[in-house]
Amino acid sequence: MSITVVGSIAYDTVKTPFGSRERMLGGAAVHFALAASFFEDVHVVGPVGDDFGEEQLEVLRRRNVDVTDVERVAGGKTFFWQGEYGWDLNSRETLDTQLGVFEGFTPKLSERSRSSDVLFLANIQPELQIEVRRQMPDARFVALDSMNLWIDIARDSLVSAIESVDCVILNDAELRQLTGKPNLVTAAREILSWAPAGRAGSEQPRGPSVIVAKQGEYGAALVTRSGFFALPAYPLETVIDPTGAGDTFAGGLVGYIAAHLAGRDAGDAGPEELDEELLRRAMAHATVLASFNVEEFGTERLERLAGREIVARIAELHAMTQFSGAPLELRG
Ligand code: AMP
Repeated sequence: MSITVVGSIAYDTVKTPFGSRERMLGGAAVHFALAASFFEDVHVVGPVGDDFGEEQLEVLRRRNVDVTDVERVAGGKTFFWQGEYGWDLNSRETLDTQLGVFEGFTPKLSERSRSSDVLFLANIQPELQIEVRRQMPDARFVALDSMNLWIDIARDSLVSAIESVDCVILNDAELRQLTGKPNLVTAAREILSWAPAGRAGSEQPRGPSVIVAKQGEYGAALVTRSGFFALPAYPLETVIDPTGAGDTFAGGLVGYIAAHLAGRDAGDAGPEELDEELLRRAMAHATVLASFNVEEFGTERLERLAGREIVARIAELHAMTQFSGAPLELRG
């Protein structure tokens, strides 16, 4: 079941305590697409400037990602982001963001991109996310990512965008900021109660039913109306560059869900029917994909990742998160 992603396609300049890279391939849609390409066909939608190289597009093509809807804007400049990490790789400073061709961009999805059943609205202006969602009214599963910038300057649009999706993937700090609730579970529950206002004659509006809180090196948590699940990050000894970890995580999560929706009828595959077990396995795949991403700069590790490496690390993560349920007679 193919996946369409809209989001930034970027040049990133990144400095971490372990090295730096100038204008390397990055962007939320790129990191997402590379990860999701291990599960299903992916169509990327977004603009680049004429400074964007063919060899960068080739990185996506090599993983069979469809780049037909990557629009080259004549005279425009590719989205640029610059960030720096200190020893605490969980927090970073954004030094520069240049929207470039994203300013004034109107997404025009080809028939092929529009016919995907699964849509990922990567972190970008919420108005653009809403526009793409509008162009894919029949998508069976829609997930969204965002960031503090849009909560600060476009909160109302972001709330409308969230009301139109099934799954919200945010950092836990962003979940708190968005809802004004200090507790992660309460914040997630608040978002689970959001739903678009119904229109006469339209089917029941659904609103988000899956909330994922990313917690950096501490892992990620999943909150649905019926359950809670959490996984630690895969314990790596060497982390080089966390850039794109969140988008790679989303690619693993959404990719896994898309692969499993493929085996179901459209009639019984509403997001409410995504059972807890499937979502937990999706969380594990997301965690493992993200762990590979941070081992090297930018897309370097994902570019030469093999499916069997993912399978092996899933088995390791599974083993290290089990414990026996043998009860102990406690005092008192
Ligand atoms: P992550 O580390 O998962 O948060 O994603 C980092 C990626 O997001 C980088 O490759 C950046 O190019 C991209 N990015 C950073 N800021 C923005 C923004 N304001 N809008 C869209 N993409 C962004």
